[in-house]
This record gives sequence, C-alpha cells and structure tokens, in this order.
Amino acid sequence: MLRVDAHTQLVGVLGYPVRHSLSPAMHNAAFQALGLNWVYLAFEVPPELLPQAVTGMRGLGIRGLNLTIPHKQAVIPLLDGLTDAAARIGAVNTLFWHEGQLMGDNTDAEGFLRALLEASVDPTGHTVLVLGAGGAARAVVYALTQRGCRVYIANRTYERALLLAQAFGAEAIPLHALEALLPRLDGVVNSTSLGMAPDVHSTPPVAWQLVPPTAWACDLVYRPRQTRFLQLAAAHGLKTVDGLGMLVHQGALAFERWTGHAAPISAMRDAITPFLEE
Ligand code: NAP
Repeated sequence: MLRVDAHTQLVGVLGYPVRHSLSPAMHNAAFQALGLNWVYLAFEVPPELLPQAVTGMRGLGIRGLNLTIPHKQAVIPLLDGLTDAAARIGAVNTLFWHEGQLMGDNTDAEGFLRALLEASVDPTGHTVLVLGAGGAARAVVYALTQRGCRVYIANRTYERALLLAQAFGAEAIPLHALEALLPRLDGVVNSTSLGMAPDVHSTPPVAWQLVPPTAWACDLVYRPRQTRFLQLAAAHGLKTVDGLGMLVHQGALAFERWTGHAAPISAMRDAITPFLEE
C-alpha cells in the first residue's frame, strides 16, 4: 500500500486537461515496486497559471514534474536550463533538479528509440518516413537524425513538414509524391494523431504493397495499441512497434532522472496496459 508521511517526496504532471493521464498509475506502480516513499499526482494547470505552478515547484521542493499539452513549450522561459535534447527539440516534457538548477529535458526522443530497440529494431542509418509534423514528430525526427537516419517527412500541412525538415537536415515530401519513396524505406513512423480512439478506422495514406516487407512500422498512437496503421503494415509482412513502448520508456527516463534508480519497466508497463485494453 502507498505510504504517505512526512518523508514522502512529490512528483507529478502538469497538463490542461490532465485527467486522462496514465502517468500517475505508471509512476506510482514504479515507486511501489521499488519501495520508494514517493508519490506522483496529476495537476490540472491552465496556461495562465503555469508560471505560478513552476514557482510553487521551486518553493515546495517538488522533486520533478512532467509537462503535457499545452505546457511543453511555454515552460521553457521559466527554467534555469535545458538538456541538449530539449533545446534541439524545442519542447520539454520533464523537469528535474541538477545542482540546484531547475532543468528541462525531453525524454520523448530517447523513449522512442528505446521502444524501437526493445522491439529489436535498430534504426541506425535507416531510411525512414515520418508521417506528421507536430510535437511528437519533432522528437522522433530528432531521435532518428541522431542515429544517422535519412529522414523524410510527410504531413497534411506540407509547410509544417518543410519547417521541421529544415530544422533537422531532413527532407519534406508531399503526400502525393510518396510512391517513389516507399520501396526505398527501412522504416515508417506514424506520428500523426490519425487512428487514435475514437477515430480508430482512420490511418495515414501509405500504399503498403510498395513498402519492403523487411521494413518496420511504428505507431506513436497507443489508444488503441493495434491501430489500423499497424494492422495494415503487419498484413504486408512488416515488423510493427506500437505506441505503448514509447509511453513507458519516456516515463522510465523521467523516473530515472528524478530518483537515480533504474526504472522497473515491467511494473510500469503492467500498470497502464489494462487502461489501453478497455
Ligand atoms: P500535434 O502536435 O497536435 O500534431 C498532430 C499531427 O497529426 C500533425 O502533423 C497533424 O497534421 C496531424 N493530423 C491531425 N489530424 C489529422 C488528420 N485528420 N489528417 C491528417 N493529419 C492529421 O500532436 P502530437 O503531440 O505530435 O501527437 C501526435 C500523436 O502522437 C498523438 O496521437 C499522441 O497521442 C501520440 N503521442 C504518443 C506518444 C507516446 O509516448 N507513444 C508521445 C507523444 C505523442 P497538421 O500539421 O496538418 O495539422
């Protein structure tokens, strides 16, 4: 059972909305698995109160925070420093203390890579198509370029793909020009929100018969885990990686930053899996 006493350390997530977050279940299960006297709470913080929330964190000595929509960029001017990943991605999902300084990190990029590696996909040097150009795509493109990948970005709004590609030395490709690229791919990532519940029948337009069956497909959407995108990729013989791995590993990296302990990955995964099967 969770013990809360005068020694309990506090971490949490700030979002607006935030009540859908799986992070409290995931992190509290991790604290329990390791017998740590820590607790993780969700705080619904509207955008105009973010500065007060961060000041409160400083004053109360809150050990760490996650940030979700709409705070990932707005928090940056409120911090003392950023990790290289957060600075390059331009978004922060984890606050932690380092030598008395309040730092911002982005664990989505490394979490994405760890999820691939855990599924025995090493993307180093691969030619990869990233679908989408929002916040999650930014972390994915950063992660893949760090691994020496040749990255192509396609997005409904082409101008956003162009801007993202320019920022990371990738190439933007119009959706109508994908056919020539598909046979050359080693991997495809869906970082759009297409396919997310309740819109489970939608999927980005990929002519899977043109993609080599030796390629891999990863979907960042995790509700449901088996998206239409992954079902179609699997039907054409591709190896598939669902969004749960990235969700768990971005959380595990934050956990490690805060506590200094290796994260209990299976306990974290087990704690949230039932919520994704509802
Ligand atoms: P975002 O910043 O709002 O970006 C959404 C992206 O989806 C944009 O590229 C947008 O295209 C595209 N899109 C949305 N609706 C579309 C439609 N009807 N047709 C075509 N494209 C559409 O969101 P985000 O934060 O990047 O998140 C994207 C997805 O990744 C979400 O499902 C989120 O849950 C998931 N995610 C998962 C993890 C994980 O740990 N597994 C982590 C982060 C995010 P436009 O630019 O044209 O609007």
